[in-house]
Amino acid sequence: MTPDLFGESPKKRRRVMMHAADQGHAPALMPGWRTAKGGLFECSRCGHSTGWLFDMQDSEVRRGIPCPICNQEG
Ligand SMILES: [Zn+2]
Repeated sequence: MTPDLFGESPKKRRRVMMHAADQGHAPALMPGWRTAKGGLFECSRCGHSTGWLFDMQDSEVRRGIPCPICNQEG
């Protein structure tokens, strides 16, 4: 028996990420926002689109966000 010391199992399901089809800034910073930066995210797998989302960090825009359709359980 080999203990899995290094974590990640190869069978672990990868999260499907939506990537920014476009990115930009909101015209104004809204109350409670940290940034006016955002993007228009689309899923290349199912085609789901979020519309424009703002209040995001550069790293979040680059990395994308998990697709709510493709990452549903079951
Ligand atoms: Zn999707």
